[in-house]
Amino acid sequence: MQKLIRNGKNEVVKQNSAGDLEYLTFPELERLECVKHLFSTRTGGVSRGIYSSMNLSFTRGDEESAVLENFRRIAKVLGAEPSQIVCSDQTHTTNVRVVTRADMGKGVTRPRDYTDVDGLITNEKGIVLATFYADCVPLYFVDPVKEVIGLSHSGWKGTVGGIGRETVSRMQQEYGCRPEDIYAAIGPSICRECYEVSRDVSEAFEKAFTENEFLNTNHAYEEIISYRDEAQKAEGKCQLDLHLANQWILKSAGILPEHISVTDVCTAHNPDYLFSHRKTDGKRGNLGAFLCLN
Ligand SMILES: [Zn+2]
Repeated sequence: MQKLIRNGKNEVVKQNSAGDLEYLTFPELERLECVKHLFSTRTGGVSRGIYSSMNLSFTRGDEESAVLENFRRIAKVLGAEPSQIVCSDQTHTTNVRVVTRADMGKGVTRPRDYTDVDGLITNEKGIVLATFYADCVPLYFVDPVKEVIGLSHSGWKGTVGGIGRETVSRMQQEYGCRPEDIYAAIGPSICRECYEVSRDVSEAFEKAFTENEFLNTNHAYEEIISYRDEAQKAEGKCQLDLHLANQWILKSAGILPEHISVTDVCTAHNPDYLFSHRKTDGKRGNLGAFLCLN
């Protein structure tokens, strides 16, 4: 197994293998017997060059046949076929789609008939939800009581928009889920140390986090940003903690702190093992988050 650089001492994210294919899981989600999940790495696929080897994007210039084979290999780990996968259409919105069996295969074996979908929820077995990453934050949701699952893509715009809260809200509306029953995981993505942002981004967070009563009361904004030094502050830049920001958003949605797993693995710290947009100047493939009901 490849050596992984971790942030912190506790192994929150577990490394697993199936032949040459290595993938990551959260033990806290594995304990929930109603679901299977994984987060892909760059290993075990057939793509070459900057896409090497497990690229899960059809739209970044890789060979279609290679990407389809990569999806087949990932699906196999979950005991499924590519035709069972349903993909997001990520454009940094907070739109969450209710997925049914009629959507199976969309984005992999047949075209999507929807656009601008950054979150997916379902209560139907046999469907494998899939969202895609290279530094942005994957959010996994499992309600083992109602047997409902969700996956959301939370980059900085999605985090400002609170897609985590929106996903929980839709799970409540559509399926009657209770936030206190939901388990969540914040997946491998860029860490605070690797993520410098400009003034416009930090101001968008300040506005969003002070307008929300729960986040404002808990001084969440003060926790999610910091400065490397005075020079950085003077330039109007800061280090942003998307993991902590999303953790606060999930708590503001009513998820219990003890039900939230937060990644200890950063994409930019491990660019040979995980695709990182920042580390590669955008010359990269996509990682995928996958979640299905058993
Ligand atoms: Zn990092």
